[in-house]
Amino acid sequence: VYATIPQMLSDAVSRYGPRDALIFPDKRLSYYDFDRAVDELASGFLALGLEKGDRLGIWSPNRLEWVLTQFATARIGVVLVNINPAYRLAELDYALNKVGCKALVLARSFKSSDYLGMIRSLAPEMDSAEKGRLHAAKVPALRHVIVMGDAVQGAWSFDEVTTLGGPAQQLRLPQIDRGLQPDDAINIQFTSGTTGHPKGATLSHYNVLNNARFVTDRIKLTESDRLAIPVPLYHCFGMVMGVLGAVSKGAAMVFPGEAFDPSDTLDAVSTERCTALYGVPTMFVAMLAELDNRPRDLGALRTGIMAGAPCPVSVMRAVNDRMNMSEVTICYGMTETSPVSFQSFVDDPLMRRCETVGRVHPHLEVKIVDEDGAILPPGQSGELCTRGYSVMKGYWGDPDRTAEAIRDGWMHTGDLAVIDEEGFCAITGRVKDMIIRGGENIYPREIEEFLLTHPQVRDAQVFGIPDDRLGEEVCAWVVAGDASLTEDMLRSHCTGQIAHFKVPRHFRLVGELPMTITGKPQKFVMRDQMVAELG
Ligand code: ATP
Ligand code: MG
Repeated sequence: VYATIPQMLSDAVSRYGPRDALIFPDKRLSYYDFDRAVDELASGFLALGLEKGDRLGIWSPNRLEWVLTQFATARIGVVLVNINPAYRLAELDYALNKVGCKALVLARSFKSSDYLGMIRSLAPEMDSAEKGRLHAAKVPALRHVIVMGDAVQGAWSFDEVTTLGGPAQQLRLPQIDRGLQPDDAINIQFTSGTTGHPKGATLSHYNVLNNARFVTDRIKLTESDRLAIPVPLYHCFGMVMGVLGAVSKGAAMVFPGEAFDPSDTLDAVSTERCTALYGVPTMFVAMLAELDNRPRDLGALRTGIMAGAPCPVSVMRAVNDRMNMSEVTICYGMTETSPVSFQSFVDDPLMRRCETVGRVHPHLEVKIVDEDGAILPPGQSGELCTRGYSVMKGYWGDPDRTAEAIRDGWMHTGDLAVIDEEGFCAITGRVKDMIIRGGENIYPREIEEFLLTHPQVRDAQVFGIPDDRLGEEVCAWVVAGDASLTEDMLRSHCTGQIAHFKVPRHFRLVGELPMTITGKPQKFVMRDQMVAELG
């Protein structure tokens, strides 16, 4: 048992040193290489004057530098701050200042986003500053900008930092190790922003490394497994369940690319003979469609995790049947709980694995409560609350919201759930997304599952909009599998098959859904757009 992230890595290195650790499209590192690279970078950070408790932001898509930075900061107790790759200038400004980042590691650009241009406009002082001595009026705490690729004026290059430490700093590492405590904050992770503004959850070594172990225990991951990680590292799914989970077992990690692409992911799974694969439901939907385009050899696949958003039964079944993932599991969790609290076991009956998020993880307590906080018996739907080692320290710099979310140690998840007599949990939706139409409680999830039974429906999202007469009306946004699908066809599919009040009043056929970078549909964006359109 280990108590800090550096201890976990060193344990993996001593057991699995020569085995594959990190596989990127252009680079491969064994556990030995990985460890050495982390030490070099950690010593470089020390040479820059970064110390335990300082905050370092990382702003980049999935790259090797991300994983090295994740472990190098943990190695010296620096708090890693995950900055959403989708952020723009105003949000970058907010994130850097909210937590007072002393250093920022960034990619130069990603897709159409010019990261370097944005940090330059926030800190124009870079143009005349000596590197490491930045004093910028708009980001006063920021001293170091570290850019991937070639150096630029006012910034270090990432590779340069790895050479700054040398033996003198490397010798300090073991001593620093002894000063690290399991309960130290090592990470500020922003939530997905599915319901609005992302919140910065502060997490400790102990929070995340234990959760990572329990997650990969459930899928029976071992050092012979090869795990494909197409989900963003920026999010807990990638960095905790993916990277820390794999390191806890000595498994190899395969990163198919900088951002999710269904074709690249399937190619990587097939050529690297991956045995496990992670994704949010929409990623699996896209991969299944891509398999129709071009079949791949998924013969080595065995298990994986679908999580992050409601997992439609039809999609789980298809993944089980068509992707050779007969041990696929669902996880339920949230950034604030490090993240997972429920997960299926690989040998749960298939229907249980498709229809529920499994049973609670070890060392956690859970309860379902009504609006007044009273505990509900098995079989009744209410708000899910969780308590135990995995609950975050709090939202950084936000005691009010922390106190609202965590009461008596219980994390109030904001999700509706039912737990049956055997302990299997089904998530029925978010408290905020429940539609109340003419006094009837409507769970969007149920209608979404029904719409997905139509063979031409690829994705469906249901939400409520305000209505003068009924309080709320039901709307559905649907992504069609082919061009012949019409709104009338959807309406007649529903009529007589589900209760009349559940039949969406408004349908929209859309090419794609507004998504967070973590691949979750943002209902508040759909709702705002419908309200604007309908006047
Ligand atoms: P924000 O809090 O910023 O609005 P978010 O809640 O989506 O965004 P995350 O912490 O990434 O941010 O996601 C946690 C949420 O994702 C949970 O509260 C839950 O609503 C949803 N979720 C996660 N896993 C599942 C699952 N298996 N089934 C249904 N919903 C899930
Ligand atoms: Mg949330």
